[in-house]
Amino acid sequence: MIDRAGQKIGNYQLIRLLGHGGFADVYLGEHIYLKTLAAIKVLHTQLANEDVEQFRNEAQTIAHLIHPHIIRVLDFAVDNHTPLLVMDYAPNGTLRQRHPKGEHLSLATVVSYVKQIASALQYAHDRKLIHRDVKPENMLLGQNDELLLSDFGIALVAENSRSQSTDDVVMGTMAYMAPEQLRGKTRLASDQYSLAVVVYEWLCGVKPFRGSYM
Ligand code: ATP
Ligand code: MG
Repeated sequence: MIDRAGQKIGNYQLIRLLGHGGFADVYLGEHIYLKTLAAIKVLHTQLANEDVEQFRNEAQTIAHLIHPHIIRVLDFAVDNHTPLLVMDYAPNGTLRQRHPKGEHLSLATVVSYVKQIASALQYAHDRKLIHRDVKPENMLLGQNDELLLSDFGIALVAENSRSQSTDDVVMGTMAYMAPEQLRGKTRLASDQYSLAVVVYEWLCGVKPFRGSYM
């Protein structure tokens, strides 16, 4: 992985790496003129010219999702075939960081989390948009510790780069995927399945299924 910290991309200076997942590296960026902070997601995949339009269309769709529990997508760019998304920066990390693996959460906490994530999913589902990657790593914490669901639908753009990889992050994601999603027949309810796996884990401290992923 190349660390791009220090580089300038568009109007943003990359300050430091925030983390990386199965299909992207995420940097903290500062707008060079406005001095505002943003999270810049640099996808691992290289887009062929004919795929740029599809990426632009998907970015357009998710940029129109405006909901108190969905992270805002602010901009997108393709820098030398590398697709980038600029999103709101969530200063308090992810729910995975707040609740490390194995932790049991109180029922009141679980109910509060589920209300927020479920309302974000309902909003997207009303627009026929499937998230595809509901998991604690994609639940970010905002300024007032409100939950912000991130990575809407970009799983679609990234599917090619992800499917060839077998690293821990990808395997981690698979544990939340509905059987029909693994068979390529994703539907709205696949997100509910993933949320249910997350809830199970919060209540019991372990995932509902262990053993081999498939
Ligand atoms: P996946 O590749 O399945 O999405 P992931 O969610 O762990 O897995 P990324 O979405 O690439 O991977 O994010 C990597 C890390 O960057 C996250 O775990 C989180 O710590 C951080 N991050 C991502 N988006 C933001 C954001 N908007 N604000 C602050 N931190 C973020
Ligand atoms: Mg993510």
